[in-house]
Amino acid sequence: MAEADRLKIAVVGSGPAGFYAADALLRGPVSSSVDLFERLPVPFGLVRYGVAPDHQGIKRVQVAFERTAALPGFRFFGNVEVGRDVSVEELLAGYHAVLFATGAALDRSLDIPGEELSGSYAATSFVGWYNGHPDFVDLKFSLAAERAVVVGMGNVALDVARILLHDRSELAKTDISDAALAALRASPVREVVLLGRRGPAQAAFDQGELEAIADLPGVGVEVDADVSFADEADLLPAARKNLAYLARLKLAGPGSKPRLLKLRFLASPVELLGDNGRVRALRIEDNRLVGAGPHIRAEPTGKVWELQTGLVIRSVGYRGAATPGLPFEAKRNVIPSSAGRVTNLAGEPQLGLYTAGWIKRGPSGLIGTNKADSKETVDLLLRDTEVLRGRALRVDVAELLASRGVQLVSFADYRKIDAAEKARGEARGKVRDKLERIPDMLAAAFPKA
Ligand code: NAP
Repeated sequence: MAEADRLKIAVVGSGPAGFYAADALLRGPVSSSVDLFERLPVPFGLVRYGVAPDHQGIKRVQVAFERTAALPGFRFFGNVEVGRDVSVEELLAGYHAVLFATGAALDRSLDIPGEELSGSYAATSFVGWYNGHPDFVDLKFSLAAERAVVVGMGNVALDVARILLHDRSELAKTDISDAALAALRASPVREVVLLGRRGPAQAAFDQGELEAIADLPGVGVEVDADVSFADEADLLPAARKNLAYLARLKLAGPGSKPRLLKLRFLASPVELLGDNGRVRALRIEDNRLVGAGPHIRAEPTGKVWELQTGLVIRSVGYRGAATPGLPFEAKRNVIPSSAGRVTNLAGEPQLGLYTAGWIKRGPSGLIGTNKADSKETVDLLLRDTEVLRGRALRVDVAELLASRGVQLVSFADYRKIDAAEKARGEARGKVRDKLERIPDMLAAAFPKA
């Protein structure tokens, strides 16, 4: 195949969706090259910065991404922010197609009074902080509370609860950040209350993730709900599994363990109460369920009560961010698309632009869900091959970035960061000791002779 026929693709975002898209392109039927752009000097997005440090098994998916990075035609363009260092327009002038897989990094708020108090945090920041993400490394978290409340019943809420309850000496062996480990070691947290606005059958977590907490030594689980299968005929298999497991946990009871996870369903936070700028309690209103099937929703009953707590972490979902120069559907916080072909807000296709992953469909699904999602987008992109090949390319983006003084981090450069982190970790009995600041990452990538 002549070089001129090769599709030049830019993928923006090096999390799972970006890597799966790159893989599908490079192994696909049309000769392609992929430049994978990433804002940070390090790849892997949520695998590095979202997956909890005690879930190293899940992080092993990185091995597959490293295999993708070794494929001919792949280049990593780390430390490049699209919208700041290079515009969408310039990328379109340098590539036949640009595929956005920028994820959903922002938090959602509860929109209730008191959220600004110290001791009230978004799970997105808490997770970024304990995972050593450069954007969150300078945040201060006060964990000075015996009881924490985590709002939400998804897998992220369970990650947060598990980290709060986990044995600190076990966490010390992971790649958790030093600041988070020190704060957890100093924290008196003994009880975590997980607050779900709907019932046990609507819980968004996976049974295995609750099991991971229930199996922790020293942690008891108390289920306060009436867990029954009665009149729940149209349950999805995952909900049925959850209910069966919750029923077993309820029957077993929490025992007399030093730390406790409490699951409280049908309850919504309505206000955070504070003293001297710090959370003192959470005002909560009980709910009842109305409607049926997937549209079942929580309706307040008017019964309001208070729970004393000094730490409230809201884990009510992630939110995608707009990229300058790209259409953005503000209500769903996604790039509008038709199955991955970017459209404007009127639904008209935008030539050369594609999207995959959370920024395409919203923040749902497991890491592997992105494989099929990215493939769906890549299949459409490849169907457009002839029209894409017809686009005249006028810009060499690598040269443009160099002319702007952007310090590009290649995959070989990243490997030096990786090696430095592993060596630091080995010296301290940890799987990895992450470099948490961009200048330190760059110093490891480009050591002075
Ligand atoms: P999620 O699964 O969408 O869960 C969000 C939770 O927040 C739901 O329980 C939701 O309740 C609740 N919520 C939303 N708005 C609320 C409000 N105003 N008040 C009270 N509760 C509210 O999102 P996530 O936990 O952030 O996870 C994101 C994705 O990553 C999920 O697909 C998850 O499975 C995945 N993930 C997987 C793992 C793993 O496999 N280990 C770990 C972390 C994340 P409603 O259902 O009532 O809306």
